[in-house]
Amino acid sequence: MMSKPVILTGLRANNDLTIGNYLGAILPMVDMAKKRAGEYRVNMFVPDLHSFTTPIDHGQLYDQVINNIKVYIAAGLPIDHDDVYVYRQSYVPAHSELTWILDCFTGMGEMSRMTQFKDKSAKLSEDRISLGLFNYPVLMAADILLYDASYVPVGDDQTQHLEFTRDIGERMNKQFGELFTIPLPVPKQHEFFGKDQGLRIRDLVDPTKKMSKSDETGRGVIFLSDSPEVATKKIMGAATDSFGEVAFDSKERPGVTNLLTILALLSGKPQHEVNAEWEGKTSYGDFKKGVAEVVASFLTDFQARLAAVDEQPVLSKLEQSEVAMRALSEKTLLRTQQAVGLRPKS
Ligand code: ATP
Ligand code: MG
Repeated sequence: MMSKPVILTGLRANNDLTIGNYLGAILPMVDMAKKRAGEYRVNMFVPDLHSFTTPIDHGQLYDQVINNIKVYIAAGLPIDHDDVYVYRQSYVPAHSELTWILDCFTGMGEMSRMTQFKDKSAKLSEDRISLGLFNYPVLMAADILLYDASYVPVGDDQTQHLEFTRDIGERMNKQFGELFTIPLPVPKQHEFFGKDQGLRIRDLVDPTKKMSKSDETGRGVIFLSDSPEVATKKIMGAATDSFGEVAFDSKERPGVTNLLTILALLSGKPQHEVNAEWEGKTSYGDFKKGVAEVVASFLTDFQARLAAVDEQPVLSKLEQSEVAMRALSEKTLLRTQQAVGLRPKS
C-alpha cells in the first residue's frame, strides 16, 4: 500500500481561507482525491507550524486549524477513503526534526533569494522578521520529502519553494545516497493536474499582486467566510481598466482577466466559453454584476456545506491519520538520521 505515488498539499491556518486558496490549491487536490485515491495516496494537511511565521492572534489558531480541515471536507475531500490522510503538521514531530537536519545543508544565500521572504519581510519591521519566516521553505521541503510525495498541487506563488524542495532533496541524495523521492519538476506537475500553469488569482483592488489571506485590509480579497453581500461589494469595487471593453488579457488587463478567471472556475465552465459570453461587452457594471452573482451563490452554497460538517468524524479522522503519518515519517527520518551519522546504520 505504501508504494502508491503520493499527492500532498497544505494550507497555512493563519487566517480564513480565500477563493484564491480554494481555486489554486484545495479544488485541484479534492479533484485528485475523488478521481485518483486508490491509485494514489492523498495527503492533505494543515501546516500549523507554518501558521505563525508571520505574527498572528494565537488565541485563534487552534480553532482556525479545525475550521480549515472542515473547509477541505466541505470542498468535497472524501475523508472516508482509506488512501486519504488528513493531519496536522505539529502532531507529527518528524517535520520539525527533519527541518533541523535540512537547515544545516541549506545556504543563507538561497533562502535570502526567496521571493516570498522578500515580499513578506518587506512588510514587517526588522525585529518582527522571524527566523521562521526565513526558513519556511525548509520546513515545507520536510513536509514533502518525509512522505516521498511526487505531486504537490500549489498555486503559482509556491513554485520557487517547490523548486527548492527538489534542490535540497537532490543535494542530500547526492551526498548520502537515495534518501528521498524527489517531487516531479513543476511543469510536469502542471501536466499531471491538467493545467498549463500554476493558478494565480489576483487581488481585486490591486490586480498586480496575488490575492492573499494575510492582506492587511482584505478589501481585494474574497474570503470563504465573507457574506454574499460583502463579497458582492468587493467584486463591484474591483479595479478594472480604461479599455472600456471586456477582454481576456492577463498582461494588459489583469483586473478584468482575473474576474473572467474566477467566473469560469466557480461556474465550472471552460474559460473560452465564459470569455465568448462576455468579450466585447462594454458595461463593466453588468459584467461585475454577473461575476458577483456567481461568487455570491457559490459562497451561500459553500457556507451551508461547511456548517453541516460534523466535528466528531473530523477529529477521529485526524487521530487515525496522525498515527499513520507518525509511523511513515519516522522511517524517512531514521533513514536520514542514519545517513548523517546520528543513528547506527542497521
Ligand atoms: P498568506 O498571505 O498567509 O501567505 P496565502 O493566501 O498565500 O496566505 P498560503 O497558505 O501561503 O496562502 O498558501 C496555501 C495554498 O494556496 C498554496 O498552494 C498557494 O499556492 C495557494 N494560493 C495562495 N494564494 C493563491 C492565489 N492567489 N491564487 C492561487 N493559489 C493561491
Ligand atoms: Mg502564501
